Amino acid sequence: MANHAAIFVEYDDGRPFSVVTEDGDDFDFDYCKRDDQIYYHRSGLGPPRTRIEAPQFAFPEASIESITIWVREGAVLVDEQGEPVVDHAARGYKLLQEFPGDPFDRDDVIECETVYCKTCDDRLPDDRDSPCEHIWYCDVCRAIGGAVDGATCKHVTRDEVLV
Ligand SMILES: [Zn+2]
Ligand SMILES: [Zn+2]
Repeated sequence: MANHAAIFVEYDDGRPFSVVTEDGDDFDFDYCKRDDQIYYHRSGLGPPRTRIEAPQFAFPEASIESITIWVREGAVLVDEQGEPVVDHAARGYKLLQEFPGDPFDRDDVIECETVYCKTCDDRLPDDRDSPCEHIWYCDVCRAIGGAVDGATCKHVTRDEVLV
């Protein structure tokens, strides 16, 4: 199991989606509906920090029910002016008092990059040539193709690539 110590965790419906560790690294956690798994990857590097910019959700009324945040003792959530946040609900989340448990040590968590498939409307593990039937890596075009942002393969379907 990875040896990361979380100091900040954002949850949506109880699933972690953004984590800062004691080293100051950022991790994105992506829930994959197809696999019913969470895939995480490092998205930013330190340095260690104890002041963490609190998120500001556009529609507090809508998200307050599902977004929860935990910060370790000693870490402080600050606003855009660098002042400690007092009214968390106004920013669209609920501050947790109890640590829900190590996000890296859940049964439903695996370390892996993800790719978003527009057709599946899902985030899929990106550790294979074809994350789903709509996305592929084309050896002919030497590019990614299919229902994904940045696709430059000239083939229209995966079958065309395979023949
Ligand atoms: Zn797909
Ligand atoms: Zn191609």
